[in-house]
Amino acid sequence: MSVLSRVASAVRRIGSCILGSLAALALAVVMTSCSEEKATQPTYVVAMEATFPPYEFYKGGEIVGIDVDILQEIARRKGVEFKLEDMAFDSIITAVQTGKVDLVVSGLTVTPDRKRMVDFTRPYSGARQVIIAPKGAPAYSKDDLARIRVGVQHGSSGDVYVTENICEPERFTNGALAVSAMNAGKLDAVVLDNAPAENHVAGSPELTIQPTALVEEEYAMAVRKGNTQLLNMLNAALNELEADGTLRAIIDRHMRENKPENAQVATTALGRLVDNFKTDFIKNDRWKYLAEGFLVTVEIAAAAALVGIALGFLIAVIRSTADLTGRLKVADFFCRLYLTVVRGTPVVVQLLIIYFVIFGAVDINKVLVAIVAFGLNSGAYVAEIIRSGIMSVDRGQIEAGRSLGLGYGTTMRSVVLPQALKNVLPALGNEFIVLLKETSICGYIALQDLTKGGDIIRSQTYDAFLPLVAVALIYLTMVVLLSHLLKKFELRLKKNER
Ligand code: GLN
Repeated sequence: MSVLSRVASAVRRIGSCILGSLAALALAVVMTSCSEEKATQPTYVVAMEATFPPYEFYKGGEIVGIDVDILQEIARRKGVEFKLEDMAFDSIITAVQTGKVDLVVSGLTVTPDRKRMVDFTRPYSGARQVIIAPKGAPAYSKDDLARIRVGVQHGSSGDVYVTENICEPERFTNGALAVSAMNAGKLDAVVLDNAPAENHVAGSPELTIQPTALVEEEYAMAVRKGNTQLLNMLNAALNELEADGTLRAIIDRHMRENKPENAQVATTALGRLVDNFKTDFIKNDRWKYLAEGFLVTVEIAAAAALVGIALGFLIAVIRSTADLTGRLKVADFFCRLYLTVVRGTPVVVQLLIIYFVIFGAVDINKVLVAIVAFGLNSGAYVAEIIRSGIMSVDRGQIEAGRSLGLGYGTTMRSVVLPQALKNVLPALGNEFIVLLKETSICGYIALQDLTKGGDIIRSQTYDAFLPLVAVALIYLTMVVLLSHLLKKFELRLKKNER
């Protein structure tokens, strides 16, 4: 009994700790939303997908490029501020439609379909969709393309063009990843905007851009339908920038410098590996993408686990009380509903709904969004794990507790829960491991977690191998450590029992 009461007091301590962190979380939400309101200059949030050189790309940990310079110029002249949000390209139109961001500036092609969803400014740059192919390949016609493996960037105008006019392409999150797939022999051609295509080809000695372009396009900025005030301001600014030659100067300067930072030279496999290691991690301090991403992943996973435990405990207790005593029927109904919905839908869909729909109109810190989403998700699984633990405790234990004069609550707290917890520890540990790895989808809402950190490196260096292996190794180490800690904890509990 003394072991059990120790566990019980530990459980109580964890409980108050969880309540404390939930309160802190709530406070943080309130504070972030308040602090946003204090800005004196109007601040606009801009969505972009920052693997699109020379328009927007990472350099030394910061987003730079033509679009960024244009925005800076507009900010300076119009006395406004822009906050950049790097997000998946296939989310950016939704982001501006739902009001998550104020505008899109992302080498965005004006298309009739998009015009129905958002309002475009005047165009500020021209572009074309070109074909990237291996150096010795023949010039591909549309018919040829229909017979080979073609890669595109998911949701891009190139994707739409190929899908509607040529064939069903293979879709990648960004052009750089499509190019690395081609480097790895997985594609025969990539259809992409000319400027990033030139950048990617300069970094891949075996590739070239074919002479004929598939289609001519124009880039413009996009705002939410009906946001004429912002649209007029942007149009006026773009007109000014064009009239005094600033626009041309910005574009020309970046086009001249449009070369990736790494050109591979080593000939031996080992030499290439060493070179790749240097460009992937050492050059421009790229290891920082992994280090910072690691911290974000740990932060989200740990906080979500706490939220999940708190929620899971609560639901498990409500549900087993309803099962054992027939009380709390209404609460039980809502718990069941929550379990059905959360366990019946994919976590990535939940994350997107929470970000775009539930917190659609609030400018809330994305780490918090992820914590809420993963916490809510994990809570459902934790609840069922703990409930199965409670149900596995012999009913005689409850009766014994009650006949000693303990109330239902006390029996639950100091007799049943400690035993239940001990029984389900391995299953709980498993849930935390799954949770940790599940956070790798954070990139969907533009959070730079560990996985996204690796993606950014891959998009800059075109090397798929080392960044992926490094990311995998870091997750693996975390999981091994976590399993080790859980095992130790389990052993301690067992030892105390004897
Ligand atoms: N211009 C393409 C489009 O609008 C690609 C833009 C991008 O990837 N940033 O679809």
